[in-house]
Amino acid sequence: MRVVYGEVFKLHDPNGIPHAERPERLERALRALEPLREHLKFVEPAKGRRDVVERIHERAYVELIEEESRDREAHMLDPDTYVSSGTFMAATAAVTSAYTAAKAAAATLEPHLVLARPPGHHAGRAGRALGAPTLGFCIFNNAATAVLGFRKAGKERVAVIDFDAHHGNGTQEIFWKDPGVLHIDIHEDGIYPGTGSVEDVGGGSAAFTKVNVPMPHAAGDPDVEEVIEAVIIPAVERFSPEAIVVSAGFDGHHFSPMAWLRYTSNTFYRLGALIRELAEKYSEGAFVAVLEGGYERDLEIGLRSFVEGVLGLKLSHEEELTRKAGLEHVLEKVKDVVRRVPR
Ligand SMILES: [Zn+2]
Repeated sequence: MRVVYGEVFKLHDPNGIPHAERPERLERALRALEPLREHLKFVEPAKGRRDVVERIHERAYVELIEEESRDREAHMLDPDTYVSSGTFMAATAAVTSAYTAAKAAAATLEPHLVLARPPGHHAGRAGRALGAPTLGFCIFNNAATAVLGFRKAGKERVAVIDFDAHHGNGTQEIFWKDPGVLHIDIHEDGIYPGTGSVEDVGGGSAAFTKVNVPMPHAAGDPDVEEVIEAVIIPAVERFSPEAIVVSAGFDGHHFSPMAWLRYTSNTFYRLGALIRELAEKYSEGAFVAVLEGGYERDLEIGLRSFVEGVLGLKLSHEEELTRKAGLEHVLEKVKDVVRRVPR
């Protein structure tokens, strides 16, 4: 597995403003992956390209971020999201790295993990997406440019699987009318950003290519397993993508202070193994995973377990399975959507 990482991703820095989304996250991530180092090949990030950013985001928004980053101390752009002098450079490198990682994955057929920040899945075309109150720590949408990278490599139909605890409202907005993107999003119901209901299935010719699974509070490992069997596998099978992008957020882990989900290492390991399997079946093994949330031990445990799952290694951080919260009611509705995913 290739890991795209560079110091440039630390330039987005709250510089003393207390904030969970800070450069140290990447040090945690690297520490977590250290024992797996012999299985990973580290590659340098891409140099940021403005044209790549502007394929996803409106120019006025890109200019706003550039302007806010210009010779400025770190300051809040909205109640959740800060901008610092290095933000434009870091965020531009992040989206461009996701784009080039997808092209590289398509060429080498190797899984790619883009260990970049700031995260991206809440960022829509013009910033805040689908009426969300804030950007939720995100600046530019990394998962979205990974999709474009695969398209550049001739892979038109792309599945985006987002298992961050929060709904990927930016990604949903960007691809709302795009029938070539199957977006499956598993997130906690009723928390930020408040979007991602089962009824949101995509617009126009893209109807039923957006599959939202709002999980009940305290959903545990068995609930995710049910979603994998009843939603992810059949939806991907119907859609039959040529490439896979993963919005890998680890804040659903029960240690996370950001959500009330109760996933353990077992769930992230299972998701890693699942993505590997799906990629082997549909895209000759190639996929791109981009880092979304996960902040403290949730990030360390979740990321390492996910990568162990991808690599088919033994799960090193053993945790007891958490209990089922029960999501029959939601699942019945989601299954109706899955049955209508276009073939
Ligand atoms: Zn999140």
